[in-house]
Amino acid sequence: MKRKLSTQLSLGFALIVLVTVALISLAANVLINHQFEKYVKNQQKEFSDGLAAGLSDQYDPADNGWNLDYIHGFGMYALNDGYIIKVYDADKQVVWDAENHDMTFCHQIMSDIRLRMLEQKPELKGDFITYHYELKQSDALVGYADISYYSPYYFNENAFLFVDSLNQILLVIGLLSLIGAVAAGIILAKHISSPIVKTIEITREISDGNYSVRFASEVRIKELNELAQAVNHMAGMLGEQDALRKRLTTDVAHELRTPLANVSSYLEALIEGVWDPTPERLQHCYDELGRISSIISDLERLRQIEDENLILNREPLDLLELSKGVCLAFEPEFAKKRLTCLIEGESSIISGDKGRLNQVVFNLLSNAVKYSVEGGQIRIQVKDSAANGTLLVEDSGMGIPENDLPHIFERFYRTDRSRNRKTGGAGIGLTIAKAIVQAHSGKITVKSEEGNGTQFIVELPKNDTC
Ligand code: ADP
Repeated sequence: MKRKLSTQLSLGFALIVLVTVALISLAANVLINHQFEKYVKNQQKEFSDGLAAGLSDQYDPADNGWNLDYIHGFGMYALNDGYIIKVYDADKQVVWDAENHDMTFCHQIMSDIRLRMLEQKPELKGDFITYHYELKQSDALVGYADISYYSPYYFNENAFLFVDSLNQILLVIGLLSLIGAVAAGIILAKHISSPIVKTIEITREISDGNYSVRFASEVRIKELNELAQAVNHMAGMLGEQDALRKRLTTDVAHELRTPLANVSSYLEALIEGVWDPTPERLQHCYDELGRISSIISDLERLRQIEDENLILNREPLDLLELSKGVCLAFEPEFAKKRLTCLIEGESSIISGDKGRLNQVVFNLLSNAVKYSVEGGQIRIQVKDSAANGTLLVEDSGMGIPENDLPHIFERFYRTDRSRNRKTGGAGIGLTIAKAIVQAHSGKITVKSEEGNGTQFIVELPKNDTC
């Protein structure tokens, strides 16, 4: 049977507290009882010694006699407390004997004490023991005394009452601490389990497709707070991925619909004989099909690049040479828009995959061309340092709005302005570039100001061993 976490924690706490309280109560009980017994034992010994000293004083050396009235009072008082006294003179003749005086009472007292102790403390196995004293006055022997009492010790009614109420107090304290601790345990268990229960609810909602759920407040327990933050982060990421996926479907449909509609209306007109198949019209159809296939190959390339194991065929590469090569391929594009392209800087040899890095420079240059105004300027700069090779691709084009900047490397992200311009591309050129740069353990960053051009900076480490 599966128990709830809070029940499990509460039961755990209760068990720990129960054992602890029981052990403490037991230890306290044993310790206090032991100390009390010791105390009683000492008291009884002291009382007996005191009796002997008191008896010594009852001898009057002047008239060589004993104060019998006083001894009698003394003896009866002691008898009531369980001490049986017998007094002898220096010649060992009995002066006063409690048993002789009131045998029935003596036996009554002795049997009461024996019975009580046997009932309450059978393990003690005690009995009446007689202690012999010499009665002295200024070091001169004046007589003897036998004092008998229940040994090693005995409890009178009050002592038993005291021990009983002590045990009851301990029991009440134990029960109260148990109740308190169980209540605290339940509160603590709730405290721990409620964020976990909330996590379960949130992850259930996430699995049902609601990515907007979040932990609203901070959780006080550090690890659970980290768990809550991780769940929030996961929900955020899944939400973004979901939005991207939806946007992908819309974008791909949107990007494909226009060229497909164009091609089909052209072909329809040609089939129905409305239009003659002139080379220009066929070329137009061909160009539209080219657009479609370039979007599809972009998508395929992205899938490949985003595949976890992007395998790089590394070789020593000069970033300057590489950039020059890509620029050459763009000459017709530059010419079409009357763009000037400047390549400057120094050689920088890094270890990289030529095909993939060509793709990075190609994507950056293609954007620089796409988003440059006619007659604009493009500048490529290569910098070399001991640790890195750096490539800058700068244009004087339309720039990127500040709030779009954090997103342009995301899949299928296009700024509204680029969408309106129908510049083609599905918004994955930069995603591909970033994935390739990261596979080389490098980083790609962007600086841009709307209306004032854009600069992409690619830093590639030289000693990357990945
Ligand atoms: P696209 O195929 O749309 O160019 P990219 O991933 O290459 O996709 O770029 C994403 C978006 O970033 C572009 O749609 C565009 O809005 C913006 N962008 C990229 N490069 C530039 C640039 N050099 N100048 C202005 N905007 C740019």
